[in-house]
Amino acid sequence: MLRFNDIADRVLEYHPGCDLSMLQRAYVFSAKVHDGQERLSGEPYLVHPLEVAGILVDMRMDEVTVSAGLLHDTIEDTLATPDELRRLFGEEVLFLVEGLTKLAKIEFNSARERQAESFRKMLVAMSKDIRILLIKLADRLHNMRTLEHMGEEAAARVAQETRDIYAPLAHRLGINWIKQELDDLCFRILDQEVAKELAQRLESKRGAREHYVEEVIAILSSKLGDFGLTARVTGRLKDLASIHEKMRREDLDLDDLYDVIAFRMILDGNAAEVYAALGIVHAIWRPVPGRFKDYVALPKPNGYRSLHTTVIGAYGERMEVQIRTREMHNAAEYGIAAHWKYKSGGKAEAEDREGQFAWLGELLERHQDLADPTEFIETVKVDLFPDEVYVFTPRGEVLSLARGATPVDFAYAIHSEVGDQCAGARVNGRMVPLRHVLSDGDTVEIVTRKSQVPRKDWLDFVVTGKARSRVRHSIRAVDQARSRELGRELLERELRKSGMSLARQIEEGAVQKIAERQGRGSVDALLAALGYGRLRAGEVARALRGDAPPAEPPRRRRRLLFGRSQRSGSGIRVGGQSDVMARIARCCAPLPGDEVAGFVTRGRGVTVHRADCRKIFEVDQERRVDVEWEPEADVPHKIRMRVRSRDAPGLLAKVTRIISARGINIGSARASTNAERLAEQTFDVWVNDVATLNSVMREIRRIRGVTSVERLGG
Ligand code: MN
Repeated sequence: MLRFNDIADRVLEYHPGCDLSMLQRAYVFSAKVHDGQERLSGEPYLVHPLEVAGILVDMRMDEVTVSAGLLHDTIEDTLATPDELRRLFGEEVLFLVEGLTKLAKIEFNSARERQAESFRKMLVAMSKDIRILLIKLADRLHNMRTLEHMGEEAAARVAQETRDIYAPLAHRLGINWIKQELDDLCFRILDQEVAKELAQRLESKRGAREHYVEEVIAILSSKLGDFGLTARVTGRLKDLASIHEKMRREDLDLDDLYDVIAFRMILDGNAAEVYAALGIVHAIWRPVPGRFKDYVALPKPNGYRSLHTTVIGAYGERMEVQIRTREMHNAAEYGIAAHWKYKSGGKAEAEDREGQFAWLGELLERHQDLADPTEFIETVKVDLFPDEVYVFTPRGEVLSLARGATPVDFAYAIHSEVGDQCAGARVNGRMVPLRHVLSDGDTVEIVTRKSQVPRKDWLDFVVTGKARSRVRHSIRAVDQARSRELGRELLERELRKSGMSLARQIEEGAVQKIAERQGRGSVDALLAALGYGRLRAGEVARALRGDAPPAEPPRRRRRLLFGRSQRSGSGIRVGGQSDVMARIARCCAPLPGDEVAGFVTRGRGVTVHRADCRKIFEVDQERRVDVEWEPEADVPHKIRMRVRSRDAPGLLAKVTRIISARGINIGSARASTNAERLAEQTFDVWVNDVATLNSVMREIRRIRGVTSVERLGG
């Protein structure tokens, strides 16, 4: 067990002037209030805050942060009060502990929308003081290290959440070792079987590998010495998660994957020597073309700097070498924590606070006008996984964009207006289509045209969060303008019947009054609501004439608004009402049991999509309505299913037998076989709910020879 003295000694090493008495008091207090509590492992609870503090020391945090780490669970899990903490440790410690207490209450494993909202709250909380997030990461890391004491299902849930949220955040903050350890722990829990097998196979070759590593280190060290350079050279086995990821990405078996070892040279010197060392490595072994990456001249957005190269080693094997100075190494390991400066005797201070955290503020700002929380999380995730490509403006400035970025992404990165008016692009002097994928080093020049507007089909190829949200935003704006025009026409026509003029009514403020009474806020919003069919022109006209509004029961009103059909036939309820005209979207073909979202469509009632259908992001969120499945509706829905298999005789018969056995009607079936004797069968089937469909798909998957079963649109 980690002891308090170890922690104190290590803080003193990097921060000699620190306030030890505060740490001491925090430790004593935490021990007192957690006394008698136990972790799932049966150990005393105090082990957890101590380990969290230890991880914060590994990150070289100041005494305030380490103290807050020792106290992080006290408000949440003990009788300690905020007043007590303020009195004993001061405002700053209290602020951090309270921030963490709030974070602990945020639920990620909930419905998609609530999860998105939680994520937004967390970003807001951590943007107030980045140290809250660093403590949270330390807390999560220790919990992940001790996950084996948790039930299997709960462990998987925590691991998934870590993979989705915390590992990307550690990456974005540039704290490499935490990101790697989290990834590795997640992999071992979420892909247990695969991880176990991989670990065993690696273990079996350990002897040979260690011998090989020594050999390479000896060669590198002696050659560097010949040129008067000193460096610490290491060679270590990459973690399981990255080895597995590499095998998957390059579709290689472990036996064919040579670069499971990462060699690293950490030089005592400056950036120039890094290039000298690279030259030496390339003189010993032949470099693999296209694998050299210069993150020294072009650091990653999270601040990472290093040279990466791959060479062909003595046995014809691929060898990966990373070259960096000690300073670059520290920055890569500690991320933003490396930028903490300790003034002698004084308080710790983050240098370059703005530069380091600017992305966070930008991210919140950019997404704050996203009305839909689900869309928020989707766009933010894009920004948190920056696998980036570096390109140049015509004036030679460097921009980093998400890999796969197109000239449209580039245009939006320069300025929203340039994006909106992007009409064409030249890459390295040649005209290219807007969907052209940019490569490292490209020089990109955007041709703008005033009359250009963002197009819907841009959404098919843009990859950056900014471009996506801007394009959607303006498509919606156009949609809204159209609805406003339609609403204006409808109301005008209605008023003309009684000899009134809409223009006059607007001018005199009468329409504004009605809008406010209807809770629509502005005349424009009222007109748009008319255009969408959410309000009836007759009703508004009546109100403008001053007639008493007939009190319609909500049920009847809905029927008038959305159509007269007695039974929708779709098995959908809109806002709790069944008698609403609803249409199932063809693109995603939702089934009862699927999470769904509804949108008002002009003149055609409500269209129902699956909640994760990409199409819904393109629709104006104003038009969204609550929909749910009719509980006891037994309406079959048509969906399409694709079965791929080896071309085994009798397989088609087996599949159809399984489908019919469930009483499911097959509308049509098509089968084809290709030259490699792989068969593909497509069925149109009529199913009542998603549970039935899933169990049928599971059963088909179990047939020998079947390689995949997929659900397609309708
Ligand atoms: Mn904790």
